[in-house]
Amino acid sequence: MLANMTMEPMLQSPAQAEGDFKALNPVPASPRYLPGTSIEVLREPKVGGLKRPVLFDFDGTLSLIREGWMGVMVPMMVEALTPLARQGEDPSALEGLVREFVAELTGKQTIYQMERLVVEVEARGGEARPASEYKALYLERLSARISDRLEGLASGAFPPAQFLVPGANEILRMLRDRGAEIRIASGTDEEDVIAEARLLGIAHFATGGIFGARADLVSASKEAVIARMLRESGLGGESLLCFGDGFVEIAACKAVGGLAVAVASDEAGRSGRVDPWKRERLIAAGADLVIPDFREAEALLHWLAKEAGAREGPGAGARGGRG
Ligand SMILES: [Mg+2]
Repeated sequence: MLANMTMEPMLQSPAQAEGDFKALNPVPASPRYLPGTSIEVLREPKVGGLKRPVLFDFDGTLSLIREGWMGVMVPMMVEALTPLARQGEDPSALEGLVREFVAELTGKQTIYQMERLVVEVEARGGEARPASEYKALYLERLSARISDRLEGLASGAFPPAQFLVPGANEILRMLRDRGAEIRIASGTDEEDVIAEARLLGIAHFATGGIFGARADLVSASKEAVIARMLRESGLGGESLLCFGDGFVEIAACKAVGGLAVAVASDEAGRSGRVDPWKRERLIAAGADLVIPDFREAEALLHWLAKEAGAREGPGAGARGGRG
């Protein structure tokens, strides 16, 4: 179905570069938590210790600078599809459709979401613009939303903590201090990710580097970053620890046997409560643990650090809830 879409000449086929999401895992009716915490455990770690490769997604996982991006992308796409709506496709049906495919592609480079829009436009008999043009339009609108944040961070008017997922700075420091090799990988354009990580004061924690979208889709995919991490560390996939709020990084982590921690962050409210919509999708993608943010990083890392933590079960060593 992706064969006929309009693409820039530089781009490889999306199917080649990054696999598509499939919902494979059931969402449990009654969640299990590390006692005294809001850390949900679906599967226990096979490997203990924290001196291992750790991958973080950026937007929504560490950074809140682009919070609200979906509220920019979805209406833009609904706008493009509305004149082409099929019978029975009212605006709310279109919004539901768009929201679903945008979410499924979250974590991949932005161009993939735009390529999907091209497919949907063409499927309704419309004449689609190139995906790169849709991406430019989206970035223009997003930039109007986030430029104040970037300026405020750069001038010091906004403290970085205001645009970090709560506890992000702390968990990065704890992991680095325990010898983890940290990489940040994002579907946002690479120069933007690096600039934003610097503004947030977390770039220096990424001892293994910061990777974002490039014209070369294959080398910049999360799968490729993970493969490189494992090759360079000489460790097996089960040693990999991933944190993300998108399907793609969770599925890519599970594909190599790593431990995937879903950060079902409430980006707008920073409430410390899990976003139920993200939770459901991230569990379907294969998440082993679900957390709302990093406020309970100490309990989480303490538990993860235990050798053969799997044998002891959830609760062993957990230090209780948020204080
Ligand atoms: Mg994300």
